[in-house]
Amino acid sequence: MIICSRCKGNGYVKVRFEAEQAIEQCKVCHSQGEINENTYYHQTWTEGTEDSLAVYYGPPLDPESFKNYTISGE
Ligand SMILES: [Zn+2]
Repeated sequence: MIICSRCKGNGYVKVRFEAEQAIEQCKVCHSQGEINENTYYHQTWTEGTEDSLAVYYGPPLDPESFKNYTISGE
């Protein structure tokens, strides 16, 4: 298991909608705070001088290695 990069292991994320702040359960790790390295997840990042969007579906990557990395669920 590795730490969920969406919620940083908290199991929830703070979302801001207009002036309101809310707590949302993390859909990536299902509030567990950890994700399975063998599960496939939808991930994106940007690359190149034009920041073109790269889309990837597969085992979780290292967030530190990618610019604007996001993980958005199975
Ligand atoms: Zn999470």
